[in-house]
Amino acid sequence: MQGLSKEETARRRQEYGPNRLTPPKKQSPVIRFLQQFRDVLIYILLAAGFITALLGHWIDAVVIFGVVIVNAVVGYVQEGKAEKALDAIRNLLSPKAMVRRENRSSSVPSDELVPGDIVILRSGDKVPADMRLFMTRELRVDESLLTGESVPVEKSNDVVPVTAALGDQKNMAFSGTLVTYGKGEGIVTGTGDDTELGRISTMLGSVETLVTPFLRRTEQLAKMLAATILLLSIGVFLYGILIKEFSVTEMFNATVGLAVAAIPEGLPAIMTITLAAGVQAMARRNAIIRKLPAVETLGSVTVICSDKTGTLTRNEMTVRSVAVDKHVYAVSGEGYEPMGSFLLDGTAVNESRVPELSILAHVALLCNDASLENREGSWVLSGDPTEGALVSLGIKSGYDHETEMQKWARTDVIPFESQRRFMATLHHSHENEAFIYMKGAPEAVLGRCNSQLVGNGEKEPIDHAYWQNVMGEIAGQGQRLLACAYRKADPAKQTLSFTDVDSEMTVIGLVGIIDPPRAEAVEAIKSCRRAGVQIKMITGDHAATAKAIGAMLGIRGNGSVMTGSQVEALDDADLQKIVAEVDIFARSSPEHKIRLVKALQAKGHVVAMTGDGVNDAPALKQANVGIAMGQNGTEVSKEAAEMILVDDNFATIVGAIEQGRTVYDNLKKSILFVLPTNGGEAFSILAAIAIGSTLPITALQILWVNMVTAVTLALTLAFEKSEDNVMQRKPRQPDEVILSPFIIWRIIYVSVILMTGTFGLFLWYESGGHSHETARTVAVNALVMFEIFYLFSSRFYVASAFSQKGFWGNRYALYAIGILLILQLVFVYAPFMQTLFETAPLGVLDWVYIVVVGSSVLFFVELEKFLLRRIYGRDLVM
Ligand code: ADP
Ligand code: MG
Repeated sequence: MQGLSKEETARRRQEYGPNRLTPPKKQSPVIRFLQQFRDVLIYILLAAGFITALLGHWIDAVVIFGVVIVNAVVGYVQEGKAEKALDAIRNLLSPKAMVRRENRSSSVPSDELVPGDIVILRSGDKVPADMRLFMTRELRVDESLLTGESVPVEKSNDVVPVTAALGDQKNMAFSGTLVTYGKGEGIVTGTGDDTELGRISTMLGSVETLVTPFLRRTEQLAKMLAATILLLSIGVFLYGILIKEFSVTEMFNATVGLAVAAIPEGLPAIMTITLAAGVQAMARRNAIIRKLPAVETLGSVTVICSDKTGTLTRNEMTVRSVAVDKHVYAVSGEGYEPMGSFLLDGTAVNESRVPELSILAHVALLCNDASLENREGSWVLSGDPTEGALVSLGIKSGYDHETEMQKWARTDVIPFESQRRFMATLHHSHENEAFIYMKGAPEAVLGRCNSQLVGNGEKEPIDHAYWQNVMGEIAGQGQRLLACAYRKADPAKQTLSFTDVDSEMTVIGLVGIIDPPRAEAVEAIKSCRRAGVQIKMITGDHAATAKAIGAMLGIRGNGSVMTGSQVEALDDADLQKIVAEVDIFARSSPEHKIRLVKALQAKGHVVAMTGDGVNDAPALKQANVGIAMGQNGTEVSKEAAEMILVDDNFATIVGAIEQGRTVYDNLKKSILFVLPTNGGEAFSILAAIAIGSTLPITALQILWVNMVTAVTLALTLAFEKSEDNVMQRKPRQPDEVILSPFIIWRIIYVSVILMTGTFGLFLWYESGGHSHETARTVAVNALVMFEIFYLFSSRFYVASAFSQKGFWGNRYALYAIGILLILQLVFVYAPFMQTLFETAPLGVLDWVYIVVVGSSVLFFVELEKFLLRRIYGRDLVM
């Protein structure tokens, strides 16, 4: 079947639209806005507002409601922005489909499919549309998405009755389901919403909410805080009227002030923004987060289990050596460019004189799904890099790829699977000859051979010792090994089964392929070591190959390499012991990966694990952070993963870990910044009640301060860059408490400084004969000034703020300060603000006092940091 023409495809796309589900309806803006009010803290404010109104304090009530609404608007806008950012990131992950049009197969974005397209499904694919299958080869599809049945369904192209239930429609593949095995071809019957998935997509309409474990814990903390504040306020209220004999109105004002002061209204929105900013920063560094909690988990990863091929290495494969009976030839040339020759002891040989070489190259070329194309001088590979190297080898030995494919048409294939480690094809020539070609890992291939090819097409019994010897020699140089074998077949034979390739194959020779380590991986591995993160390399390659590449990358462990079969021989307890010491796992299959993850987790590790194949999905799910490959990964592995590497690069994982640590730091820093403000305000009011003085700040003024500082200063911590030592500290404990002793200490310390300064300045002004209004205006501005200076300190746990980076490092902070100062000028000098907030204009000298007092916090906190550094070292995390 040829498939649709270009024109027809275009016409149908017009008619049917893109193959995309209509995105689930977002909640209406009104509801989303109202949800902003669903917060204990807001309830308290609203209650206070109502009571204030009942008491007839209209202006106060209006301001309280005003602040609540401004808060909701800010929260609404910020949440919307955060969600948009995450949506944009999710859209980067558009899947592709293999389609045949005008008799050519190519990979196109799935949303360009139209009904009538011929789609090729391979194991690991996500079915891109509903389709009727007309060819299946052991095709198994996981339809749990639609049917809830988690065992994959075997598909066929048989006719089924029209009445068949969804789960029984064996000749259909449904959009969104996952191909777990085999392959198939089908014709698209429905796209977009006109699919089974589209019909149920209302059920899938759940939009991921912006929560992570840390945010949930913060929320609980905030609730506890609110409850405590409520109780405290009631206690203070009673104390005030019963013991201190304040009037009820006076005490009511004070209590509302206290509640408002102590409640960190802005905090939840700040944390959401911080999280979203972190996810965006990761995406810019090529790591796409699929599940938000991973952002935090990344920061506590203690071990990365990484695939070797393509992640630690470049996945640019070139054949370097070919071993046949008697000789090992070197192959010259770079990359995939099919230019080069065979060399024996440094001199070029004519490969047509060595029949083993040309037969081997023929097998390498035809037992192969890759192709190379010369595009403007550079050779572009489509398909698997290992196979690309073999195509190049085939062309180097004089074959024309297209011609050979036609002369030796392929009738059947056993595809490569990482558990089997070989691939076999059946070919028929026009002269009615038939051959079975096979290539794969030498262990898999040699075990199926009983003879070997020697000069002039003769066969000899296989000499295992010789091949073992050559394997050691080639793999020891870090080359990836493949063996090629073949046999004659009955020309009448049309299908290939495992029994055909079980025992009577003839080995032709071995191929050694280099795949150089990524230069940046070497650096990233060093950085992991410093950050207390271990690295385990996992590969399907030969142990000697793995060891040599490991040495180039700096991954050694105790010097030994474990193979998959050795892992199998161990019980769980022994494996747990071994994983601590061994860093390289060779000849591994996906089922070994999952045991490794479990063993590491049993040892208390937080594991990040990479994977690309279908069978890696369970290990990715089991790992704390499953990481899939954006370029060479299957859709199945991407679905199972928490994070996707756009560039398949190991260094990107390390970048994401760094970013994960930074996000977590920034979340904590925003708590460290916001809570002392509330503490300082609350303490000031309590102190005033205790000594029976007028309140240094009114409830309304507190609301003002909290609101303007939350939307300016606190928000900038979301964009704070990594501290210099993020990758020099140990990973964070996953169950770490939010309010660590250090954090509690710093909150109290700063609260006390803020209280002393604010209340002290107020009392000083009062005793100096100024009006309450002036004294309060000075107090409010002192509080704001404190926060401005404290922001510089808050940006680093214990590192000094007195540095280039300390001042210039976060330009948002400088903008925010500018905006805040303007707001404060309006607050002090605008007549309507003077009426609303009972402020009074200030003179130059007042401002001097305010700045002097406000800046003191910087010196006090920097002094505290200096002492902490002395005692606990510079890597202290609060
Ligand atoms: P890795 O984990 O390094 O990607 P693979 O599972 O892809 O390892 O490959 C393991 C071994 O299987 C390789 O060393 C090679 O011998 C063999 N192999 C790899 N790709 C193919 C292929 N396309 N066809 C046949 N054999 C292959
Ligand atoms: Mg591979």
